[in-house]
Amino acid sequence: MVIKISNLTEADIPGAVAAVQDAFKNDPYNEWVYDHSKFNQQRNATSLGIRMRWGMRNGIFHVAKEEGNDKVLGVAMWLRPQPANAPPTWNDWLEGWRLYFNQVGMNLYYGRGGLNVKRYYIWKDAQAKVQSEIWDDPRGYYFLNIMVVLPETQGKGVGAAMMKQVTDQADAENMKCYLESSRDDPNIAIYGRWGFKFVKDMICDDDGPKSASGIIRRNFDLENLITENDDPGPTSSAYVNPPSRNGCLDPNSAMLEYVSKAILEDPGLPRNNPTVSSWQVPEHPTVASIQSTTLPEFTDVVIIGSGITGCSVTKTLLEHEATHGVHVIVLEARTLVSGATGRNGGHLVTASGHTFGPLAEQHGIEAAKQVTRFSLLNIKAIMKMVREMDQEFQDHCQLRDVLKVMAVGDEETWANATSSVLNFQKNVTEHNKYHTIVEQDAVPERWNIKNSVGAVEHNAGAVWPYRLITGIFERLLKNYPSRLAIETHTPATAVQHLAKDKEYPYRITTPRGTIKAKRVIHCTNGHASHLLPKLAGRIYPFRGTMSVQKPGPYLKSGKGSRSWSLSHKPSLDPRTGLYITGLYYLQENPLTSRIWIGNETAYLKNILTSDDTYVPDEARAALSTILPKLFLEGWGTEEKAEIESIWSGTQGHTADNIPVVGKILESLTGEATDSQQWIAAGFNGYGMDKCWLTGEALVRIMLGEDVSEWFPQCFLLTEDRLKNTLTPEETVSKFSSIPPPDNIRQAKL
Ligand SMILES: Cc1cc2nc3c(=O)[nH]c(=O)nc-3n(C[C@H](O)[C@H](O)[C@H](O)COP(=O)(O)OP(=O)(O)OC[C@H]3O[C@@H](n4cnc5c(N)ncnc54)[C@H](O)[C@@H]3O)c2cc1C
Repeated sequence: MVIKISNLTEADIPGAVAAVQDAFKNDPYNEWVYDHSKFNQQRNATSLGIRMRWGMRNGIFHVAKEEGNDKVLGVAMWLRPQPANAPPTWNDWLEGWRLYFNQVGMNLYYGRGGLNVKRYYIWKDAQAKVQSEIWDDPRGYYFLNIMVVLPETQGKGVGAAMMKQVTDQADAENMKCYLESSRDDPNIAIYGRWGFKFVKDMICDDDGPKSASGIIRRNFDLENLITENDDPGPTSSAYVNPPSRNGCLDPNSAMLEYVSKAILEDPGLPRNNPTVSSWQVPEHPTVASIQSTTLPEFTDVVIIGSGITGCSVTKTLLEHEATHGVHVIVLEARTLVSGATGRNGGHLVTASGHTFGPLAEQHGIEAAKQVTRFSLLNIKAIMKMVREMDQEFQDHCQLRDVLKVMAVGDEETWANATSSVLNFQKNVTEHNKYHTIVEQDAVPERWNIKNSVGAVEHNAGAVWPYRLITGIFERLLKNYPSRLAIETHTPATAVQHLAKDKEYPYRITTPRGTIKAKRVIHCTNGHASHLLPKLAGRIYPFRGTMSVQKPGPYLKSGKGSRSWSLSHKPSLDPRTGLYITGLYYLQENPLTSRIWIGNETAYLKNILTSDDTYVPDEARAALSTILPKLFLEGWGTEEKAEIESIWSGTQGHTADNIPVVGKILESLTGEATDSQQWIAAGFNGYGMDKCWLTGEALVRIMLGEDVSEWFPQCFLLTEDRLKNTLTPEETVSKFSSIPPPDNIRQAKL
């Protein structure tokens, strides 16, 4: 049998998890720390998967296989030596959090699965005590954290081959190794043959009501010496606590702790008395506050949320031939289109150029191609739809073509942006002329922009989003008076599944009464987790600020034919929580020449919230000072522009930066028969280039149609996504990767 040792890969994880579960089945530590009547195999598998992914990034994680065969025969995970006095590196801190958070996320998902938390912490304390007593090498130890070999391959040299990989390395570096084992026999003897010496008992004493089975664990110290081919029984698996130094969180950890709490908080219902968005002034004369005299008691479909997504879902349901006769109720907590769609920047812009690179990195090239093509398709579809409507409506919602520029403020962002655009051109060849790269020297004259290091321009659109969507709702009501009811000022406060009711299995509660429905579609974006709590931290509210500003006395008007964005490196100050998000977006109103400009910069407490009833001072300050800094000619020596109106709005961000679309899965609802709740939410910062066709795609998916030709498959809600990428832990990790401001970085050097 020729044994091959390789690094663990994603594809190996199921086999490695099964091997570990098998080896630990009768392990004394496992017996002690789990209540086996409640032991949840799936939870344990998820936990091990998390541990393994952590190990792949941080430790030395090996699998043993027979040459030519993919079956995992053994698993070994080592942690690298950590010098005793060295403060943990940024990466260690992050990874500690990542692991901890995955465990927390998993606990939320599966419950504790029989884990005796008290005993778990007794073990953690005992482990810390013993390590502090016997670890005397200041350079640290190679720590063998997991070692298992499938029972049927024990005695064939699998363990020895895995052991040798790292002990050879330790030998070469003259470093010591360390492990803990929960069995004396035969492990002391086996490890002894490899040069491990028993050093100290680790007493885990549980004096609570079930204290009888407190167990003893042993520690070994190794001077490398491998002699025999026997395989050991399992060592124990350890878990990492959230990192803290002497019990005090450092600023990074405190900041991440804040993020982890904030994203898991219930966003609640949309607030009464939001800041006044100038898009919503004046309100639509007939539909803004429309509602039936009496709330209907029954319907086929309830759509929660009246933004652009809810509108598209409504229109598709009413117009699709397969849903002929279907009755629809739209519930809106406040006035119609009063959420993000009525508060945004009004850009019909695809960010395909500068997002292609990050999308490809995170989701793969295929996904990046699908998402960017879809974005372009959306803009085209909206423009076409409106251009086929009457001229009066087109004028009213000010739909127009614009030339759009993204000016870049620093070299690093510029390098990333250009590489992303070139990548897009190479991969999405039918649109390879869509973007033009404007070099630094040409930007001031072409775009009246100062201090940029370069720019990317392309065609785009602009619109008055509130008028567009309220206008479409108005027309739908006119065309389908007997099939559509719009109920504004009617928040859905609960959605209940009535398993026994075969005809109307959903009861939607509102302050005006209840509705029974066959299907429920959540188009609630940043508020999604209020009705679906298991989405907390996966979709979370992210607040932005928009303003209308008076143009400077020297700013030449383009009569609304241009739009701009300014992109620069973001920063997050872990001491204060000030997040400078690095993006401004602006357009000029064609009739008034006013500049409509938005940005998300604020303290975290003012960003990770769904409260749009106030504008934080720091957001106002950022917006009032940017225009004189951006334009070459416009404001003379003035350092501030005049803000005429300002408001905030809630975006729905997701852990993996892409929307969440499809059927709400059993793991979120908790009931297999609860199978007719659907969602389209989490459009992140850009939604006008995704929501419209997403609404249509969702209805078609619901009807069993295949939309894979044009709809990005990575947007679909899957169990795999819920476990791996759409997790609260990924959200925290995203924040942890935002660099601190330059002055903090320099102080550290
Ligand atoms: C400040 C800001 C600037 C932006 N700028 C741009 C831009 O320029 N270009 C771009 O492409 N995108 C932009 N976006 C993003 C874009 O506006 C959103 O992605 C898009 O509008 C999302 O549409 P939606 O219909 O999914 O959500 P929303 O428009 O937020 O609609 C959700 C609706 O659900 C309602 N609701 C929530 N919970 C309940 C409940 N329980 N019961 C009843 N009703 C409920 C809300 O009141 C809301 O009306 C911006 C967003 C903001 C906030």
